[in-house]
Amino acid sequence: MSKGKNCEAVRVVVRCRPLSRKEEATASENILDIDDKLGQITIRNPKAPPDEPMKVFTFDSVYGWESKQNDIYDDAVRPLVESVLRGFNGTIFAYGQTGTGKTHTMQGHIFTQISRTQNQKYLVRSSYLEIYQEEIRDLLCKNNNKKLELKESSDFGVYVRDLSSVVTKNATEIEHVMNLGNQSRSVGFTNMNERSSRSHAIFVITVECSEVGPDGEDHIRVGKLNMVDLAGSERQSKTGAKGKRLKEAAKINLSLSALGNVISALVDGKSTHVPYRDSKLTRLLQDSLGGNAKTVMIATVGPSHKNFGESLATLRYASRAK
Ligand code: ADP
Ligand code: MG
Repeated sequence: MSKGKNCEAVRVVVRCRPLSRKEEATASENILDIDDKLGQITIRNPKAPPDEPMKVFTFDSVYGWESKQNDIYDDAVRPLVESVLRGFNGTIFAYGQTGTGKTHTMQGHIFTQISRTQNQKYLVRSSYLEIYQEEIRDLLCKNNNKKLELKESSDFGVYVRDLSSVVTKNATEIEHVMNLGNQSRSVGFTNMNERSSRSHAIFVITVECSEVGPDGEDHIRVGKLNMVDLAGSERQSKTGAKGKRLKEAAKINLSLSALGNVISALVDGKSTHVPYRDSKLTRLLQDSLGGNAKTVMIATVGPSHKNFGESLATLRYASRAK
């Protein structure tokens, strides 16, 4: 397969969580086989006849049930964080079925690592927003039912008007900000999982660094890291959605497929048109996808035979992004 000019800029990795206690108790079979040396993942259709060939997918990296947060950080996230500290933009996506480890992979550890590389010459600010039904809400603002607008200016590019940001001095403070936002995320829903399976949460860390340039003047260098915990990728129709819920499902699918189209256009490198404008998510992230920006897509899957259909769909989506 020919690789486009942006292939280095987009990395796609897959992480598989272990069988949960409940799955173990209900005799779930593990249908995935992971070869982390080759970056391959093999999936077996539990209903297929034994002679049917299994499907094999290859990614930049694959992480099995024994992988630790640090493994993923060192391999996939660190290069991106380092480039953000040098003044570039970067985006980490977690994509996958609800319950497969998107939030688990995105939260916690990344901040500790950022603070390791951080010192006083950086000014770090955090923002947290949610896209639900193609509407943007500020998760750090008390009046968070207000819908925020996407704006475009020649100076700043695409930005969210009135989005709040908090200056954070260390990992604990960043984590605190994220926890605050998570609390406001669950409003209006019976539980956090219900909401997170239907909305995209974007945590933005902006890193400003001032340094003296070759002209002897002070220059400000700004890098931005977007951590995007995407809505669950499961096909919503399966849950018997009707009316309002069905419309909602269509919007979720729209933004996930718009994202897939943008990433595959970037990876392809030959496309003259990258369809950023097709969803709020891709418009908002326009300056952090492609160009000098680095992107990591972490696709998460569960190992149980009961998730065969969704796991296969996730692997296909991720492999299209390659
Ligand atoms: P999602 O955000 O995709 O809906 P979560 O991150 O909430 O999924 O994970 C679902 C459950 O599985 C949580 O209880 C989480 O702690 C657990 N889990 C997810 N990934 C792993 C992993 N790699 N190792 C151990 N437990 C995991
Ligand atoms: Mg989640």
